[in-house]
Amino acid sequence: MRGSLRIARIFGIDIGVHWTFPLLIAWIAYRSAGMGLVPTLVAIAFVLLIFLCVVLHELGHALTARAFGVQTRHITLLPIGGVAALERMPTRPREEFLIAIAGPAVNVVIGAALLGVALAIGDIRTPAGMYTIRGGGVLLQLAILNFGLVAFNMLPAFPMDGGRVLRSLLALKLDYARATAIAAHCGKAMALLFVAAALFGESPLLLLIAVFVYFGGQAEANAAAERSAVTGLTVAAAMQTDVRTLPAGATLGDAADLLIAGAQQDFPVVDAEGMYAGLLRRDRLIQAFTQLGPTAPLAGAVDRALPTLSPGDSLPVAVETLREHGPALAVLDGRRPVGLLTGENLSEFLLLSTAPHRRP
Ligand SMILES: [Zn+2]
Repeated sequence: MRGSLRIARIFGIDIGVHWTFPLLIAWIAYRSAGMGLVPTLVAIAFVLLIFLCVVLHELGHALTARAFGVQTRHITLLPIGGVAALERMPTRPREEFLIAIAGPAVNVVIGAALLGVALAIGDIRTPAGMYTIRGGGVLLQLAILNFGLVAFNMLPAFPMDGGRVLRSLLALKLDYARATAIAAHCGKAMALLFVAAALFGESPLLLLIAVFVYFGGQAEANAAAERSAVTGLTVAAAMQTDVRTLPAGATLGDAADLLIAGAQQDFPVVDAEGMYAGLLRRDRLIQAFTQLGPTAPLAGAVDRALPTLSPGDSLPVAVETLREHGPALAVLDGRRPVGLLTGENLSEFLLLSTAPHRRP
């Protein structure tokens, strides 16, 4: 994750600490400063132990995902908890269910083990006045915290674990986009409860979690709606067909005139037979025009290595190609340009096709 520092590598997965994480430690140090040095260090050590449990929780997600062939890019620790960045979310409900439940399951095991040891050895008490949750020894407190992590994570606040479990259960009966939308609505309601609880309990971290849940859930719901809107469609459905082309022998000035005259930003360039020779993109055109002037030939600014699409190509695949090589790709019928697929007209297409009053 951007802005994070790698601290370890476990099972081939990088474990990183986000730059905001030390702020949490600083905040705890500040909160317990009045108690003296040793209690402060104990409080910090305790928080680090909690985050060790969080890392194990994330590894539970990551290793279960790996069992289904989904790799994890990295695990990052934030002040609000951990994030396992999976390469993709499995779309099979059963797999998502198991991946989501694996994290909390790890904390159940840790909590039960700590509780067992605490009971067996008669619970070691921390010196009075130290960082205590509900009294009792460190083992008992850690056990309680692990159970607390389970309870909190299992709240149906999509995209938190409980929300993912909810989505996967809904997806058994409903289509994926609908299931995600319902889970995201539920997550937003939970986020508002978090805000209320954060204000009531003066907990800035809970407020951050509320923001993460509110916007994260909506982003995933949008992505799921987009995916379902393009499923089964071809490039022909979403491409821009009213497209101007430029002859390969034209000048940068000709291209600049065309850019200014209309809304089109990127131009397929054609040879003497009208066959596709490359794409002249807006940023390259402006750059070349600035450097070489209007009378220079446009040929030097044409991008010839870009992938091209054909009208019959699968739209979901084309969207991925566009995401990688965007902002525009030429659509060819054979070698003849028949349209453009651009990020802009694709998002317009998605807006229209996911609108409540969509055309039949
Ligand atoms: Zn989790």
